Amino acid sequence: MTREKPAAVSLYKQMDQGLSLDSRFQFHCHAGRPCFNRCCRTPTIILSPYDLLRLKQFLGLTSREFLERYTRREIEEWSNLPLIFIDPYRPEGEGCPFLGAEGCTVYAHRPAACRLFPITMGSQLTEQGTVDYYFCRQLDYCRGFAGDREWSLASWMADQGFAEYQEGRQGWLEILLKKGLQGPQGAVAELQDLFAAIAYDLDQFRRHLSEPEVFRVAEHAGLALEDLQTNDLALLQFSYRYLHSLLFGEEEESPPREK
Ligand code: SF4
Ligand code: SF4
Repeated sequence: MTREKPAAVSLYKQMDQGLSLDSRFQFHCHAGRPCFNRCCRTPTIILSPYDLLRLKQFLGLTSREFLERYTRREIEEWSNLPLIFIDPYRPEGEGCPFLGAEGCTVYAHRPAACRLFPITMGSQLTEQGTVDYYFCRQLDYCRGFAGDREWSLASWMADQGFAEYQEGRQGWLEILLKKGLQGPQGAVAELQDLFAAIAYDLDQFRRHLSEPEVFRVAEHAGLALEDLQTNDLALLQFSYRYLHSLLFGEEEESPPREK
């Protein structure tokens, strides 16, 4: 089977306009559509660390097992940092590995990109914080738009449970939007590996919590190691903080999120 590389992907968008939260559209996806499951056969799904956490918890896997079984890694063109994609070219066949005969088998824990579809988003980091832009993506074969349900962008996001995913990925997104890795190739590759290990392989990162440099950042942030050892979400948020410290220096605070 041919493995095609995706087109260069960037989370950064420089756009004057996109949809507003009040923008309205019609959409209704259900099993009766002739295109049912088709969009999951060739998906380009970027997984944030929060997406990864939700999926690996649901599947009862370690982060390393999940990464090795279901994903591939590509470099993001804006930041030069690694992104993790669901690999639709798993050995058993073509399509998202979580696609079953009845549809998505991880539906309650599906990634943010799957929740938002047919809406896509890009982001910018400004002095006021992260600004997200939303766009409607009309695949030519998608019959969901021949729908009898109307949404505003805000009501669609609420219906799809997008808020906790947006919150969970915020620190990661800020780093990707802020840092462009540059320098000698060897040094960049080393930093890319380090970023991937900390951001995406959370169980592995947990094993390094007592190392002096990691411990120092946790202590500086007033975080208890016991909590980080047992609370995945707290560890995820700390991994963002640690990456921030590693790449920018710990004195620098993350900018607020623009409402
Ligand atoms: S995770 Fe679920 S919704 Fe997303 S592409 Fe895979 S099967 Fe489709
Ligand atoms: S209606 Fe669109 S989103 Fe739903 S299954 Fe068909 S192609 Fe996918």
